[in-house]
Amino acid sequence: MNLNRGRALTSIPGPSVIPEDVLRSMHRSFPNMYEGPLVDISHSVFDDLPKVAHTEGKVFMAISNGHGAWEMSLTNTMRRGDKVLVLASGRFAIGWGEQAEQLGCEVETIDFGDRGPVDPDRVEERLRADTAHEIKAILVVQIDTASGVWNDIGAIRKAIDAAGHPALYMVDCVASLASVPYFMDAWGVDITIGGSQKGLMVPPGLGLVWASEKALKAHETAEMVTPYWNWTPRLMDGAHYLKFCGTPPIQHIYAMRTALDMLFDEGLENVWARHTVFADAVRAAVEAWAAPGGFELNITDLAHRSDATTTILGGSIDCKEMRRICETDAGLVLGVGLGSFEDKAFRIGHMGHLNPPMVLGTLGTIEATLAHMGASMGGSGIAAASRVIAEALGRKAEFRAAAE
Ligand SMILES: *Cc1c(COP(=O)(O)O)cnc(C)c1O
Repeated sequence: MNLNRGRALTSIPGPSVIPEDVLRSMHRSFPNMYEGPLVDISHSVFDDLPKVAHTEGKVFMAISNGHGAWEMSLTNTMRRGDKVLVLASGRFAIGWGEQAEQLGCEVETIDFGDRGPVDPDRVEERLRADTAHEIKAILVVQIDTASGVWNDIGAIRKAIDAAGHPALYMVDCVASLASVPYFMDAWGVDITIGGSQKGLMVPPGLGLVWASEKALKAHETAEMVTPYWNWTPRLMDGAHYLKFCGTPPIQHIYAMRTALDMLFDEGLENVWARHTVFADAVRAAVEAWAAPGGFELNITDLAHRSDATTTILGGSIDCKEMRRICETDAGLVLGVGLGSFEDKAFRIGHMGHLNPPMVLGTLGTIEATLAHMGASMGGSGIAAASRVIAEALGRKAEFRAAAE
């Protein structure tokens, strides 16, 4: 029977649910785009975005998605033939590395597989061996959206320092920023990559790049600079249109202002704590469902299971059919398995504008669908998830430190 009426819910790892206030702030006719309130609001967004990454560095906003932000980071800092070290733990660092290769960098990848994190000791060992300092940049993802792994960005920094290596440290936080703790300056990160549509709760369309002093220095001798992405005009004081290399993304600027206000009102630490609760609820559900031949959390080490997105291996359960029933008959959209996972896994996004009815609704719909399919299930996931939420309702907010 088809029960799919009412408000559909999309529980994928981005784009995430857009808050009504953010949507409403976009619904307006065009203001003067050369001066006045829009330009003031835009400047305030440029001033406030570094607070989200905990940096004193600069932020660049481009009309693009995360892939565009990747390209902006590489073209503005690299020289043709530069060696780039990619630390892979899923699909996303690999994709960024593929861009580097297409742009003319030499790419070396250390693949840590897609069920666990980057191992800082192996990074240190590789960097120590690079005595000529041929490696110019290290690319890693904080949370890989395909595998659901949460890498320890501070520990990788320590490994780079222990090897005394000067490479630029570049971190993709598209799936993690404003969902889990991130301290760009304290962790000595030179480039941070973000996108508007995940933890930042804004529709897709803004690619974000934060740059340290060292990254801006590298820009001065970069050889791959192209007109649109070029940081130089975007850094100039003066006409606002230079910041976006043309017409600004007016509606997105209003949306980002509203989203930042919401994040600061709640407090970033409370935002992170809320993400931990919902992630714990999802994990508790999956572990309760687990049965021989049934579901399993992809990331084996609890400390490295991400608080923004979870990848679940299907075992003998047909994930594609499960997702189809959820979507068609119940109005719940779940994330597909990416890369090597394909139909062997599915993903639940639990980032951004979320509350218990949304998380429990997602888990309850999955549980009902599993029961309908006659899938092997150990116990009630929804009961386990409710216990996590009940416990959280009874205590103070507490965020989980970066995986260590
Ligand atoms: C979503 C995502 C991207 C890509 O962003 P697009 O906006 O789809 O280009 C890059 N990295 C990570 C970790 C992501 O989750």
